[in-house]
Amino acid sequence: DFTAADKLMDTLEKCRRKPRKVTPSEPLYVGVDLGTAYIVVVAVNAKKQPVACAMRFAQVVKDGLIVDYTGGLRIVRELTQELEEKLGRKLEKAAIAVPPGTSERDCATHRHVAEGAGYQVTALLDEPTAANSVLNVRDGAIVDIGGGTTGIAVLEDGKVVYVADEATGGTHVSLVLAGNYDISFEEAEDLKKDKARQKEILPVVRPVIEKMGSIIHRHVQGRNVSALYLVGGTCCLPGMEEVIQKYTGVPTFKPANPFLVTPLGIALNC
Ligand code: ATP
Repeated sequence: DFTAADKLMDTLEKCRRKPRKVTPSEPLYVGVDLGTAYIVVVAVNAKKQPVACAMRFAQVVKDGLIVDYTGGLRIVRELTQELEEKLGRKLEKAAIAVPPGTSERDCATHRHVAEGAGYQVTALLDEPTAANSVLNVRDGAIVDIGGGTTGIAVLEDGKVVYVADEATGGTHVSLVLAGNYDISFEEAEDLKKDKARQKEILPVVRPVIEKMGSIIHRHVQGRNVSALYLVGGTCCLPGMEEVIQKYTGVPTFKPANPFLVTPLGIALNC
């Protein structure tokens, strides 16, 4: 039942377009998400309601590691400034998240980006745990398909007990579209997000989605996984859940808006 998650994501989508009003003194908490495709900054209030969100397409992270530190820092600074101007408030505290298994050194780099943008970092968590703060799954697997990778986190009793992350994500979907339609990568990114054409492109990108299905299948087979829960921008594609369910044989669900679940979850842990 995604009712609560869907409501939260709906509020997030609204405040992405128009930030909610905040008082000059109420505490605000931020989540900074450095992804392969997007850098996202989300602010929530003390009631854990999203109040503002800003994001930018950026390629400063590869395989969960920051490859362009200065670029990342500049974008987080700019997004923060944008939110501060819109809210008329300074943002001070932030939580950050990294893929499970990230080394201490790479965690420190993530932290330095947030600190460099002026934040006091109050929490560093792993991405599936962040996503699960929104979804509240007790048992099953959260599958996060972002720009670069398909991440799988198996949960038992609400705790992450197994994780895996493999290359194949939205970037691969766009590359296949670019090749098939003889268009640039940027045009393919737009085509992929065009609601009017998503039905038409599904058969073209089906092999990539099946590849994601095979990755998921390999990691969940033999484990006690009764359901898959999809998050991440790539899961916005209508029909994803059916292809993955068919491929893995595991009942597959997704919230109405799977994009930005992780960034919001990070902010909820600040
Ligand atoms: P990663 O998790 O791999 O580090 P990320 O956190 O940047 O990357 P997300 O922001 O979850 O990943 O998702 C980005 C991907 O989702 C991109 O490939 C983007 O093209 C794709 N995407 C975003 N919106 C949509 C949409 N409406 N339909 C299809 N794909 C989308």
